Amino acid sequence: MTKISMSLTRRNMMVRTAGASAGLMLAGIGPRRAVAQAVGSVSMAGDIHLLQSGGVNVLAIGGADGITLLDGGPTEQADALLAEVARLFPGHQVRTLFNTHWHPEQTGCNERLGAQGARIIAHENTRLWLTTDIERPWEQQRFAPMAKAGQPNQTFYDAGEFSAGATAVQYGYLLQAHTDGDAYAFLPEENILFTGGAVTSDRWPLVDWWTGGWIGGLAAGQKQLLEIANEQTRIVPSSGPVITRAELAAQQEMYAALFGQLRQMMFKGRAPADAVAAAPTRDMKPEWGDATAFVSRAFESLWGQLSPDA
Ligand SMILES: [Zn+2]
Repeated sequence: MTKISMSLTRRNMMVRTAGASAGLMLAGIGPRRAVAQAVGSVSMAGDIHLLQSGGVNVLAIGGADGITLLDGGPTEQADALLAEVARLFPGHQVRTLFNTHWHPEQTGCNERLGAQGARIIAHENTRLWLTTDIERPWEQQRFAPMAKAGQPNQTFYDAGEFSAGATAVQYGYLLQAHTDGDAYAFLPEENILFTGGAVTSDRWPLVDWWTGGWIGGLAAGQKQLLEIANEQTRIVPSSGPVITRAELAAQQEMYAALFGQLRQMMFKGRAPADAVAAAPTRDMKPEWGDATAFVSRAFESLWGQLSPDA
């Protein structure tokens, strides 16, 4: 492991963010720069860079045949993200974009890159969600279908592999985890695991049961990721700092325990508000902030998965 990769911390990221911000302002890129946050990056190995775009992690992999992006960050950050990618790999185009799931925080570059002819790889369920209107019952927001150019144009059901220049990328399906299209990407040579939405390390995740996620599946998806990782693996969550396998194992235990508690409450006929009032997360991750939305969605996610008569 190189020195720079060992120093991949939140502080390091913030230092680089300040630099990237100055560069962006000098370049005067895009009409959205007033609202977009600067995109910072750190090198993880050779031509592999971790970018943080609006609080979302993106991995950019360089190669003679073009750039590969694992996730694309939010739409309002697309200009800033692609400017940082262009700075890292001058003269190269993004040829491949991998979507770990359909959420707008991950698919914000799809239309731009798809229109430029990029290959967009995703689980088939992710493509399907991007072709339809989505209105989730817990919020006043409608997600319109993605324009055709931005929809995934190479889908899979199970697992696969592709080359990003000299870097091998293995990917696979996490079943129903935080959505039902969740996928991870693993770089075996560099031992980097890009988890997608099934893992966060700075906030409570969204258990998006409306599009097929559930708390039991989140715990199961993390268990699957633990089988891929070893003690040296650098695990890149969908948001937050890079974590180790031991940290992921602790998270997995936490979600498995929460799943057990919430399941018991549901079998006793309790409602989501009861689950929130019971504060099952009170001794867990105070630094992640308010867990109300997480607990509510996690509890609601049991309705479609567990029958009281089972
Ligand atoms: Zn997500």
